[in-house]
Amino acid sequence: MIETQLWRVNPETADLENDLQIKAAAKCLSQGKIVAFPTETVYGLGGNAKFRDSVQKIYEAKGRPSDNPLIVHVATAEQVREICTEINPIAKKLMDAFWPGPLTLVLPSRGEVSDAVTAGLSTVAVRMPSHPVARALILASGLPIAAPSANSSGHPSPTKADHVLHDLYGKIAGIVDGGETGVGVESTVVDCTTTPVTILRPGGVSREQLEEVIGPVADDPGLTRPDQTPKAPGMKYKHYAPEATMYLVPAGESRIQELVAHEKNSDRRVGVLTTEENQKDFPQADVVLTCGRRSDPESVAHSLFAILRAFDAENVDVIYSETFSEAGIGKAVMNRLSKAAAGRVIE
Ligand code: AMP
Ligand code: MG
Repeated sequence: MIETQLWRVNPETADLENDLQIKAAAKCLSQGKIVAFPTETVYGLGGNAKFRDSVQKIYEAKGRPSDNPLIVHVATAEQVREICTEINPIAKKLMDAFWPGPLTLVLPSRGEVSDAVTAGLSTVAVRMPSHPVARALILASGLPIAAPSANSSGHPSPTKADHVLHDLYGKIAGIVDGGETGVGVESTVVDCTTTPVTILRPGGVSREQLEEVIGPVADDPGLTRPDQTPKAPGMKYKHYAPEATMYLVPAGESRIQELVAHEKNSDRRVGVLTTEENQKDFPQADVVLTCGRRSDPESVAHSLFAILRAFDAENVDVIYSETFSEAGIGKAVMNRLSKAAAGRVIE
């Protein structure tokens, strides 16, 4: 066990450039320690990307497989040039349109970051987050910060400091608590070394938004075809999973009602993952949790991971979940839901 400090920062009222909490967290980073901090997507677990020891601490604290590379977080264009050999015109267009923001670009690595960050690949994943606390922390440290999501590997990603405490207390030097994160799902990962560019992980920036700026983009076939290995190593792992066995039910409410009714003959505790519009429809279920409004896909993304964690606290044995349209951010929501359900679908 190590001592885990808690630094509270209110992004709305703090003078972030001079904030003593942020300075304390930045000091830990420059000493090679690892600290969690809020970004606009989920909480990240940061360490000095140039320092192998720090990067290894991240893998250890999360229990993350070492072949799953980390995203490097930067605050300035100069830091990007330090890390990557080449920023091609398409990558430049994407940076101009979506940075700072929930988009990660895979670019050729200059070898400046530790090869533990890139898992030995010749490319490096880079993102400039927009969350004011993340930006202030990276600037104060003066370092490129390697940061995966601040959860134990396999668990739902953290959208609140409490989630980080639950998974990593005693394993990391500290947590900057800047409140709940906004987008709620991780960044979109785009490989800029292919023509056209390839979406390796759907996330906070949608395919439609990308295509408005650069025209047609490709999908990594490994994301959807079980016979192909995903190019983002992280996408092959079981992920985001609640403790209960979860099933996706595309047929919707009446099919879920049937399934819940059927469970009444078993002694299993049954949960339903639904939306505000439908929450009254499952009186027979033991636990009904709502994940935003069906009419507002951003609200679903925002609360998805917190709801998956809430089912753990309710000790349910089985979860039946509604599904969502894959338009816009819905693509990322369905990707996370189907991983949480380990691909289990009931027709
Ligand atoms: P996380 O750090 O948990 O947000 O996950 C980052 C995702 O980006 C994982 O799926 C990684 O496998 C992927 N990733 C990171 N670096 C690279 C890279 N150089 N090439 C391809 N995928 C990467
Ligand atoms: Mg993660």
